[in-house]
Amino acid sequence: MSASPLSPKWKRVVVKLSGEALQGGQTHGLDSATLDRIADDLVAAADLGTEIAVVVGGGNFFRGIQGADKGIERARADSIGMLATVMNALAIEYAIEKRGRAARALSAVPMPSLCEPYSRQAALHHLAKRRIVILAGGTGNPFFTTDTGAALRGAELSCDAILKATQVDGVYSADPKKDPNAIRYERVTQDEAIAKNLAVMDTAAFALARENRIPIIVFSIAEPCAITAALSGQGRATLVAP
Ligand code: UDP
Repeated sequence: MSASPLSPKWKRVVVKLSGEALQGGQTHGLDSATLDRIADDLVAAADLGTEIAVVVGGGNFFRGIQGADKGIERARADSIGMLATVMNALAIEYAIEKRGRAARALSAVPMPSLCEPYSRQAALHHLAKRRIVILAGGTGNPFFTTDTGAALRGAELSCDAILKATQVDGVYSADPKKDPNAIRYERVTQDEAIAKNLAVMDTAAFALARENRIPIIVFSIAEPCAITAALSGQGRATLVAP
């Protein structure tokens, strides 16, 4: 048997997937081909031997800020947003299980008839059993994002890195889709990311990752096998680290 050319850099990681990553070419919702591609990638990443926790967003269905713009009080709009993340988590859980790999969705907002409530102990138990853990509900509190949820779970589950999947291949000085002069960084510190207001993650997420010395790898989910590549230190990415 030939050895795999890919070898993972970390023992345990949290992968942050935005809701948008799951909508493919659609304007919202779930695109099944995209879901299948990402599930294949997550299974391949787990097959490399790394324990994988996925924090999933909900922006393909609803973001609290959109609801607030339409007159829904923010805390309630955020509750709707958190429910959106549960829909995505259940879809990812099923897509992984369909491939013969065990997965468990855990929700920070308890809804035990749909999935297990999140607890640190339960997540660590499933990770030790080599199950891919999908974390829904963000932090479980309004006024936060799933980026902050990813940094929080990364810290409390002692993850070695946060793999932040985005629509572009790293961190830029401005939105590269709007500004042709945007500069791409190979590496930035969390302090620089906060000071320059680099919009790839929110300030709370950067600050939590900085306090807990967790590196963030920012890469494009549009590339084939993007998660496996990021886990192996391959492919184009920006490293956000002290
Ligand atoms: N949300 C929340 N608390 C959290 C995480 C998420 O209230 O800890 C809500 C918030 O309304 C957010 C929505 O859930 O807009 C979806 O999450 P997010 O915007 O982070 O999703 P993504 O942009 O990654 O798809």
